[in-house]
Amino acid sequence: MTAAVLIVAAGRGARAGRDGQAPKQFALLAGRTVLARAIAPFDACPAITSITVVIHPDDHELYAASNLGHFTKLTPPVTGGATRQDSVRLGLEALDAAAPDVVLIHDAARPFVTQDIIARVLAALADNDGALAAVPLADTLKRERDAALVDTTIPRGGLWKAQTPQGFRFSAIQAAHQTAANAGTPVFTDDASIAEWAGLSVALVHGAERNFKLTTSEDMAMAEALLGAGPLGWEPRTGTGFDVHAFTAGDHVWLGGIRIPHDQGLDAHSDGDAPLHALTDALLGALGDGDIGQHFPPSDPAWKGARSRIFVEDAARRVAARGGRIANVDVTILCEAPRIGPHRDAIRAEIADMLGLDIGRVAVKATTTERLGFTGRKEGIAALATATLLLPF
Ligand code: MG
Repeated sequence: MTAAVLIVAAGRGARAGRDGQAPKQFALLAGRTVLARAIAPFDACPAITSITVVIHPDDHELYAASNLGHFTKLTPPVTGGATRQDSVRLGLEALDAAAPDVVLIHDAARPFVTQDIIARVLAALADNDGALAAVPLADTLKRERDAALVDTTIPRGGLWKAQTPQGFRFSAIQAAHQTAANAGTPVFTDDASIAEWAGLSVALVHGAERNFKLTTSEDMAMAEALLGAGPLGWEPRTGTGFDVHAFTAGDHVWLGGIRIPHDQGLDAHSDGDAPLHALTDALLGALGDGDIGQHFPPSDPAWKGARSRIFVEDAARRVAARGGRIANVDVTILCEAPRIGPHRDAIRAEIADMLGLDIGRVAVKATTTERLGFTGRKEGIAALATATLLLPF
């Protein structure tokens, strides 16, 4: 079975109180756009074949700037129409050539959809033309008369709140949209309504209260609070780094950003600061973003004699660009000499400064190798580092 996803991101979102700002699907939520958060669970779901985002004609630049390059199933965006219904119909037309068996249609403004919900919608399509995520109504409903006075109470039994994703057999929903467009029906507010209007069987499956749609600025604040409140929405990543530099003639070494007088120097294209090189690789490793040699090739004369602080700061910027935080870093220096102990706290403070971290999140340790190996023979210095990041997902 092939399953395509249409993410509807063409709305203007004026209701979120963000007039003059980017529409809410492009707003940052704990460091990552709402749109990227809405795409991620589908991209990670093995049953999904492709993902296409429908965007407003004015939003191509915002889309391009949304850091979506790491998603593996994204096809080029489709330009939407005047209403949500038009946008979905245009998205379905764009999928026509691929002719997937089923299509899931999802609001970009629902960033908290889960793989469980996606799986339930897909499963229900085995026996139905359509299926939508929804939650049973928990609140008692009141109809107002006027001036916020209660007219009557509406029985809530059997009432559900419709969410997305809403899934359909592709040919059935495409035909229903086309027929509705030709018939000039009133605008439908979701795709299940069109399916119902066309006489298709539509199943209700359990969504989740937290799969809510970001509509108002209060919703945005609630979403931020949900993501900031705990580990929810953050995944820990750990990276390691290792580096060696040989001793050569000289009168000082750079270790952890600190100049330490010594009877030798370190042989290197840059300043030879092995602990900072290991630390840079640990940060890049946690990001899955190459290594120091890839970003700063030793063959490039620009880095001749460079202070290694710039490599660490570059890696920290890459973490920030992904909306991540550095939880802690831990550096171990292996050498017989010079003695690191007297400089340990200066090195910790220097690294904390480079990374914008509290010094309590930076550990620096040193050991000899009991005169064994190249470090034991005082031929060079080695350094190990680990970094733990929290990245949004
Ligand atoms: Mg190095």
